[in-house]
Amino acid sequence: MAVCITKAYGLDRIRARVPAWHAAMQAGKRAAPKCVATNAAGERCGGVRMRGADRCRCHLTGPERDATDIQRAVEARKKLRSTNTMRRADGETALRNIARRQLHRAWKRDPTVAGATLVLEDHDESRVLAWLAENHGLDLERRPFHDNGRPISARAIDRLRWAGTLALTQRITAEGGRRRVFAALRDDLAWWRKHHGELTP
Ligand SMILES: [Zn+2]
Repeated sequence: MAVCITKAYGLDRIRARVPAWHAAMQAGKRAAPKCVATNAAGERCGGVRMRGADRCRCHLTGPERDATDIQRAVEARKKLRSTNTMRRADGETALRNIARRQLHRAWKRDPTVAGATLVLEDHDESRVLAWLAENHGLDLERRPFHDNGRPISARAIDRLRWAGTLALTQRITAEGGRRRVFAALRDDLAWWRKHHGELTP
C-alpha cells in the first residue's frame, strides 16, 4: 500500500505552523532590547544586541567586543560537541567569524601577520590568481612584491583575492575590481612607507 510520507510524518501540520513561528520570531526580535549606539544620522541604532552586551555586532568594538568574543568562542566550542548538525554548523560559523575579526584587528597593527579571511577551493584559487595576473599584471605565485621590492603583505593579498573573487562571481564590476586592487596595493605601500621608509629596488 502506498504511503504518503507527507501525511505519515505530519509534515502538513508542521508546514501549517511555519507562518506562526515566523511571526513569533519577528515579535521576539521587536521586543528584544535594542542597540543603544547612535548611528551616523544621529539616530538610535536599534539593531539586535549581541548577547551579554548593550550594542549590536557593528557597534560593539574594542576591548568590550574582545571580551564578548571570548565568551562567544566558549559557547561556540560547546556547540561543536553537539549531536545536532545545525548546532555544530552554528558553532563552526561563529568560530570562523571570531577568527576573522581577530585577524582584521591584528592586521590593523601589522598587515604582514600571516592569515587569510577567504578560503577557496584549489580551482577557484587558480582562477583568482589568473584574474589578478591577466587583468592587473600581478603574479602573486612567483613575485608577491611591490615595485619597490617590499613584499605584498598578507592583508593586501587577502584584499586582492577578495577583489578577484567578487569580480569573477560578478558581485562587483570590472571597474569595481580595478578600484579594489588599486586600493589594496596603495594602502599596503602606504603602510610600508610609514613603518619602514622608502626602499628602491
Ligand atoms: Zn548598533
